[in-house]
Amino acid sequence: MIPTHPITADEQPLPTNNPMTHQDTRPDKPEEACGVFGIYAPEEDVAKLTYFGLYALQHRGQESAGIATFEGEQVHLHKDMGLVSQVFNEGILSNLPGQMAVGHTRYSTTGSSRKVNAQPAVVDTRLGTLALAHNGNLVNTIQLRQELLENNCNLVTTTDSEMIAFAIAQEIDAGQNWLEGCIKAFSRLSGAFSLVIGTPAGLMGVRDPNGIRPLVIGTLGSDPVRYVLASETCGLDIIGAEYLRDVEPGELVWITQEGLASYHWSQQQQRKLCIFEMIYFARPDSVMHNESLYTYRMRLGRQLATESIVDADIVIGVPDSGIPAAIGFSQASSISYAEGLIKNRYVGRTFIQPTQTMRESGIRMKLNPLKDVLNGKRVIIVDDSIVRGTTSRKLVKTLREAGAREVHMRISSPPVTHPCFYGIDTDSQDQLIAATKSVAEITKQLEVDSLAYLSWEGMLLATGEDPQSFCSACFTGDYPVTVPEQVKASKLILEKAVMS
Ligand code: SF4
Repeated sequence: MIPTHPITADEQPLPTNNPMTHQDTRPDKPEEACGVFGIYAPEEDVAKLTYFGLYALQHRGQESAGIATFEGEQVHLHKDMGLVSQVFNEGILSNLPGQMAVGHTRYSTTGSSRKVNAQPAVVDTRLGTLALAHNGNLVNTIQLRQELLENNCNLVTTTDSEMIAFAIAQEIDAGQNWLEGCIKAFSRLSGAFSLVIGTPAGLMGVRDPNGIRPLVIGTLGSDPVRYVLASETCGLDIIGAEYLRDVEPGELVWITQEGLASYHWSQQQQRKLCIFEMIYFARPDSVMHNESLYTYRMRLGRQLATESIVDADIVIGVPDSGIPAAIGFSQASSISYAEGLIKNRYVGRTFIQPTQTMRESGIRMKLNPLKDVLNGKRVIIVDDSIVRGTTSRKLVKTLREAGAREVHMRISSPPVTHPCFYGIDTDSQDQLIAATKSVAEITKQLEVDSLAYLSWEGMLLATGEDPQSFCSACFTGDYPVTVPEQVKASKLILEKAVMS
């Protein structure tokens, strides 16, 4: 097994004052791990279709992007730090020919932010090269890393995704075929993983036995039918693919010239989709459980209003993710909905640091208040979640400065009290405001007139699904896959292992 892409000078960690490192640009929200995309379509420009698929999945990770295409046995790869539109151009895409492609857009939850950790992870095996894109986080990385090193694996990155690629390669090199080798490797993994894997023999889509991260199948054309895999349905819509179905928890789909075959690789399957995907991460136009998440989020707002109505003049939402719940709240409470905050949609794309004065002016680079709308009003502001509380406090100050007479905050999810270990960056527990403070204390800290969260029961009731079919561990601490103590210690635990 030879890693195809050793570390080069330009793949060293970015300096910490670089605006591309997430420490500097990090919003006060849980951050998504990754978006994955795959396509098998010999007649099409697969690189370009993958580019647009990743473009639609950009919200799931903005640190790096990559595409690997398969031209027969040969793999062409391009990956780099930055947004999808910064990493690729027409010239680069035209140098990625092939019948099949795997794409990835990344936010680091395991491994630091540097180019070598960008995906797809590409590894050579006895049967040819594989390219792997991963969304999620393993919780048995220490044990897996140890096993791989004992078998002389030359790991070059600090990501769990590369370990999965090497675990597969190890099984292939031991004499298994692609399907057997992958299934044996998956049984060595614990945690959350939705994978798209390209091999010279075909394209594979996989979900972990709990189906914590989403993965959907789409079709392109009818004669012949071609298949597409994407983290969310918005990745299908953009290229004109039709949603077929979800990859099931514990399922492996194998896409070749013959079509799509399905295998249930794990005996233990239970549905535990991340509820935060539905509340906040996934795009509102993506469909889960047969409806758009916009509709679900409006229902969260309606439920929130029934639980915590307050007398006020207007309801506003925090753009963009709080808007559907604010509209739902307005509908259920009959309090007028208004736009009170305008978002600067391009702020995340500047690479110039703001001046000190700008920094002190708080969040206005991102959100600007509409004084005409807010002045003299009793305002209910609806947001989807509070993590550290820093942005919420600035937001309340901004509304008051714009003339709001009262500010009542309503949150369309329960208090976040526990960190996530399945691929979402929600900070360590001591950084989560609701883990250390009561609602009364948070109300005081945010300087709001009142604060209410949606109940855990209300959040699940609004799904219209079996409440048992979701992971909601960041609200309860009830983790569906056991998290070892060592893993809880630090996000960059792998770097520490490399350095020791
Ligand atoms: S812990 Fe929270 S963010 Fe993580 S998978 Fe579960 S519901 Fe999602």
